[in-house]
Amino acid sequence: MEQVPYSETFDPGEGRGLAILGSTGSIGTQALDVVRAQPGRFRVEVLTAGRNADLLIEQALEFKPNAVAIADEAQGQKVRDALWEHDIKAYAGQDAIAQLVEMDGIDIVLTALVGFAGLRPTMNAIAAGKHIALANKETLVVAGEIVMAAARDQGVDILPVDSEHSAIFQCLAGEFHNPIEKLILTASGGPFRGRDRSSLEGVTKEQALKHPNWDMGAKITIDSASLMNKGLEVIEARWLFDVKAADIEVVVHPQSIVHSCVQFEDGSIKAQLGLPDMKLPIQYALGYPKRLQNDFPRFSFADYANLTFEAPDTATFRNLQLAYDALDARGSAPCVLNAANEVAVAAFLRDEVGFLEMSEVLEHALNTVSHVAKPDLEQLFDLDRAAREAAQDRVTRS
Ligand code: NDP
Repeated sequence: MEQVPYSETFDPGEGRGLAILGSTGSIGTQALDVVRAQPGRFRVEVLTAGRNADLLIEQALEFKPNAVAIADEAQGQKVRDALWEHDIKAYAGQDAIAQLVEMDGIDIVLTALVGFAGLRPTMNAIAAGKHIALANKETLVVAGEIVMAAARDQGVDILPVDSEHSAIFQCLAGEFHNPIEKLILTASGGPFRGRDRSSLEGVTKEQALKHPNWDMGAKITIDSASLMNKGLEVIEARWLFDVKAADIEVVVHPQSIVHSCVQFEDGSIKAQLGLPDMKLPIQYALGYPKRLQNDFPRFSFADYANLTFEAPDTATFRNLQLAYDALDARGSAPCVLNAANEVAVAAFLRDEVGFLEMSEVLEHALNTVSHVAKPDLEQLFDLDRAAREAAQDRVTRS
């Protein structure tokens, strides 16, 4: 059977069938806001959560999906008890999430769960011919080459949700045959922009969790403060747009209005602008290629007298450089970097390591885990485990 391109799946009669993985999180709840505001455009077929059974149940009762799954098996019975009389199937465990994405009736899977846990369900969804709206950048960081090759083989679209990558994707509309000279990824710089290393020694998680422009989940907020998020995005962009790391430039733009840019071979630069609101890139991916009318607040130049741009400080925020280095090293390095970072961020949030020490956890794992030049999917699972162990060793010693 030939795969139908996502752009042709818009059936105004029935609406597009959605699976939202991580529906209880920041991206997931905003995706449901988009669905709510576009009656008849979308059908919610599947919702999944990590541990938040109460919110998953509430969402299921409102959106009436065919099935839900919760990763935490201890919460499974509670969800089943609440939903069985409403004829909504409920499952528990990571395997259930990975299997549900294959269901008939799903046109697109929004991967809005956090971390390495996104890899298996994303690969299963691609194998089942589902299009992907990709928020879970860690999947491409860990296995970009494998994921993009599988998507090409299956003829499925990977539609970016990350605002920077959505911006680039929007700049490329109508330009897909023109070579890219350079991608310019903008970064807000996070709450610690302009600080030097000595002033970052004692910063707390409360300070790091206060992002100036975006309200996001805890992990990505810490990643934004350390510029790890931008590093992960460089790797994500490398695979999504097939551009060499050397041709991806990061520019700090504290107002987060210019979401990113593409420079073409004639030197012309296209940018996409808007207020920092994730609902716009989420809606663009879910509605692609249509631009759906909405009532989100509009940007006005009159409100922003200054849009400023500066180079990132990779000597202070070493994680960004570590991401470029991992991309240069190729093979298993980005997978190890990602796993160690998940451990480091969790440890920082438990006050077990300091803010700057997170980079040391990453370096320790990168120096400890043996490099594999071309890991396959199963090797990536082993590498992820090994990197977590190495990172945890370094955390325990601190
Ligand atoms: P949140 O932490 O807010 O939400 C994560 C979601 O994933 C929740 O539904 C959570 O469930 C679920 N989850 C957590 N762990 C697991 C697991 N092991 N197995 C299954 N489900 C799990 O994260 P965000 O929404 O902020 O981010 C989600 C992804 O989107 C990340 O990859 C992030 O980098 C990316 N992204 C986020 C942006 C944002 O603005 N938030 C912007 C761009 C990209 P529960 O709540 O029930 O525990």
